[in-house]
Amino acid sequence: MEERSYDRRRRIRLLKRIILGTIAAAIIIPTGVSILLGIRVISLQNKITRLEEALADYENPPENVTGVYTTASIEESPRDTVQAGEVAQEKHREQEQTKKQIYLTFDDGPSQNTDEILDILKEYNVKATFFVVGKMDEQSVKAYQRIVAEGHTLAMHSYSHKYDEIYASKESFIEDLSMLQEYLYQVTGIWSRFYRFPGGSSNTVSKVDMQELTAYLEESGITYFDWNIACGDAVSGQVSVEELVENTVGNLDNINRGFVLMHDAVEKKTTVEALPEIIEKIQERGDAVFLPVTDETVPVQHMTAK
Ligand SMILES: [Zn+2]
Repeated sequence: MEERSYDRRRRIRLLKRIILGTIAAAIIIPTGVSILLGIRVISLQNKITRLEEALADYENPPENVTGVYTTASIEESPRDTVQAGEVAQEKHREQEQTKKQIYLTFDDGPSQNTDEILDILKEYNVKATFFVVGKMDEQSVKAYQRIVAEGHTLAMHSYSHKYDEIYASKESFIEDLSMLQEYLYQVTGIWSRFYRFPGGSSNTVSKVDMQELTAYLEESGITYFDWNIACGDAVSGQVSVEELVENTVGNLDNINRGFVLMHDAVEKKTTVEALPEIIEKIQERGDAVFLPVTDETVPVQHMTAK
């Protein structure tokens, strides 16, 4: 009897110790973990604050300083000089905005004329837009790359330029477009967002309702551009330089934003010959600037999406 009750007490004591031990562990371990995590959170918060400060400096570099700056370069640019520079810049921007905006656009390239067109544009320091088609040869690949390298806009004009294929169905239109967009990305790294329909958005050859296609472009984040000035080189045969110049610069008085349709194609030699005169005549006016198409450009469109 005596013996048994002693055993029981011992068992109870042991059990008590186990229970107390478990309770202690259940309190101490989570507390310890919480403290460690708390410390980690505080250190991460500090790190975030430091990074945010660094980012703010990066996003808002001191005015008039671009890129890497040092205290020295800030001291070298007194505040009043900076403001004068800003005012002048702003004034310049305003003047540019009130000028006629002329977008030279070249369709159907690259061709054997592309290099010469690019040389002329370079000589006059004019940026233009090239609505290109898909060509795989080495010369064409170099032409796409040169267009991009020299600051012009690489825009799309269908891969095949075959009306009966592109406009056969919505699916074939999309297939042709994607092929060109992906190909240009492959060879230049540019994901073009600008399009010109072969024949324009008001063409009458498409078997698909053009509004379906314009809606598709809009959904895909692609802006299409038609034209409101045609230099006249689309008609077959060699149009004279005189005519091309007159067609382009003759009606500028009534136009504030001019999208000039020109062609970059081997048989359109007079277009290349007329280009210097076209640029000079427009530059001589003094009230016009040449611009490449960008995301900010408001397009001229013959037909708008539903
Ligand atoms: Zn074309």
